[in-house]
Amino acid sequence: MKSIAIYGKGGIGKSTTTCSLAIALAENYKVIQIGCDPKSDSTKNLMNGKKIPSVLDMIRKKGNDVVLEDIVYKSESGIYCVESGGPTPGIGCAGLGIIQAFKKLEELKAFEIYKPDIVLYDVLGDVVCGGFAMPIRDGYADNIFIVTSGEMMALYAADNIKRAVDNFVGRGYARCGGLILNSRNVPDEDMVVKKAAGEMGLDVLAKIRRSDYVQKAEDEGKTAIEMFPNSDIADDYRNLARKIIEKIEEMEKNKIEKKDKKIARRI
Ligand code: ADP
Ligand code: MG
Repeated sequence: MKSIAIYGKGGIGKSTTTCSLAIALAENYKVIQIGCDPKSDSTKNLMNGKKIPSVLDMIRKKGNDVVLEDIVYKSESGIYCVESGGPTPGIGCAGLGIIQAFKKLEELKAFEIYKPDIVLYDVLGDVVCGGFAMPIRDGYADNIFIVTSGEMMALYAADNIKRAVDNFVGRGYARCGGLILNSRNVPDEDMVVKKAAGEMGLDVLAKIRRSDYVQKAEDEGKTAIEMFPNSDIADDYRNLARKIIEKIEEMEKNKIEKKDKKIARRI
């Protein structure tokens, strides 16, 4: 099972990108997408524009009687969708919602039962405190990718996320696989993002162009890759899926080689 967290600033296009990525990956793999944003709208465009009940909502409603069917919803495209949910606005910590939701999924043995090949976590990254760092910190997501545009605040958030990953990397998990450029067509965007990536010690893994198809698909509660499968932007998402898998395999290989070298030194 490969676990992937897609981080980035609010509004930058994480959910849009993650949903189309999930569809591209679902051609070859069984995928679960877990929204970790109090907005609970990560999987909306996989579910015909409807928000599914969040884990926190169901816990509030049914307490200990929550069953998997209350919190995991299969899309028409075959993707298993979950939303962690959040507290009542202004009360309670949003990060705690993620922790509670993960614990519930574990308790109900979601991964053993659905046996996904890929778990996608779509995580709000304006702040990487407590709960929002949970997918990296507690070994849930091994592979982190950060969505950004060339806008200053998006790059600032990306840098913060990279720093958070670096803080946990010593424990042997959570590697950062690079930046995903979700274009806003700001001047010199490719160059600006490439330079910022270099300063973070990362590569720009793939670029998603800005396209009106995204909004058109969203208006129908769909993803661009499903509604316009022959468009350039659909190709961008397929390319992203390929690059992510290649990068994860490369990082896994490096990790094994490093381990082998360590063992060889000890002998
Ligand atoms: P986040 O999950 O990071 O908060 P969303 O995925 O909800 O952000 O995206 C915010 C808005 O940006 C969406 O309404 C979506 O239509 C738009 N958007 C995202 N990516 C693109 C793109 N490549 N081209 C055009 N619009 C986009
Ligand atoms: Mg989102």
